Amino acid sequence: MDAVIAAGGKGTRLGELTREIPKCLLPIAGKPLLGLQLDELARNGIGKAWLLTGHLGDSVDEYVEAYEGPVEVESIRETEPLGTGGSLAALAGAFDEAFAFLYGDLVLSLDLARMRAFHDRSGATVTMLAHPNSHPYDSDLILAGPGGRVSGILRKSEERSGWQPNLVNAGLYIVSPELPAAIRPGVKQDFEKDILASRIDAGRVFAYRTAEYVKDMGTPERLAQTERELASGAVAARRLSNRQKAIFLDRDGTINEFDGLIHDPYQLRLLPGAAEAIKRINASRYLCFIVSNQPAAARGLCGLADIETINHKLDALLGREGAFVDDIRYCPHHPDKGYPEENPALKIDCECRKPKAGMLTDLAARYNVDLSASYMIGDTSVDVATALAAGTKSILVSSGMKEEPPKYDARPDLAIADLGAAVGAILGGYI
Ligand SMILES: [Zn+2]
Repeated sequence: MDAVIAAGGKGTRLGELTREIPKCLLPIAGKPLLGLQLDELARNGIGKAWLLTGHLGDSVDEYVEAYEGPVEVESIRETEPLGTGGSLAALAGAFDEAFAFLYGDLVLSLDLARMRAFHDRSGATVTMLAHPNSHPYDSDLILAGPGGRVSGILRKSEERSGWQPNLVNAGLYIVSPELPAAIRPGVKQDFEKDILASRIDAGRVFAYRTAEYVKDMGTPERLAQTERELASGAVAARRLSNRQKAIFLDRDGTINEFDGLIHDPYQLRLLPGAAEAIKRINASRYLCFIVSNQPAAARGLCGLADIETINHKLDALLGREGAFVDDIRYCPHHPDKGYPEENPALKIDCECRKPKAGMLTDLAARYNVDLSASYMIGDTSVDVATALAAGTKSILVSSGMKEEPPKYDARPDLAIADLGAAVGAILGGYI
């Protein structure tokens, strides 16, 4: 697979830093950003990178001439600024397989082969790298259905009603080879706003969700933070070809107040300290997942779309406090038939309903998680039994359902007051 790097950006938000140095050559931890990107592409087995240059292109060409790394680099200079979309037209006919397209201001550490496999399976024209972030309320949000098909992008400038998921475009794409030839040459176009929009309408764009490290160097603060994270090894550790560890969280009674079978967004209220605890997980080496039994739709109390909306509200409430979960799995099934309003399609004996380990083993495969180095936190014996089935350690919190007597005879590794205390015990090395 080849890569294309849009390296013509002006980097105006970086002020003085990019007056004489193009953004892609900003030094980070002693190396130009472009050099870090080429290293990462090489780690992913990419043999050739095309650079689309413009602003301060002479400096980029000088860098390319002096570059002696493992990737073959070819730069294409635009004579007038054509934008991230318009500049791609110059590559019409250059590819016979999908290619990676990324912005030149990204520091990244990811397993591109996983994303490419997702792209090939979905049959998308464009696959967007997507992730949750700590400020969804002022970010453009990707609206995607199950399976990742993108139905729209909600701009931060647009008014928002209802609840939206925390899913944001990271600025890296896998693109099918025929796309550049379909772009009108010589016309200034933005890749996202002009090229993607029509493909989204045609149902040809998918979002690939990841917890890997992809950050743009838009501001001096982010630059400084990224230098710290590169130095600590946190950037490289997130690549999914490396084993990950995770903290799996039950939802109701653990993150939000216990309120029976939650079937309407108004019932969802965060427990005190929950967002702060999740924020601490986000800053740690652990991934953060929610695994939750949600039989309300099976019982006929609501539809599956309502369960999605309730999870979006949770995403939004956490996002307001700068916290996020890397992914959410829920089981909508229930095995016991005989309720009057039930949905028979969901009344099955599935592999995902806790205390079965299905949701955890599914996430472990998707994110390369070592379950034996991971934790499950929940408010009932069901969560403790799930941890035993999955092979994680377990923490029982007393912030939720008062289970008398416990449904399962399963002893937790630790019993403690709430999520904040549980996360404190894990990160403090007490369990
Ligand atoms: Zn299930």
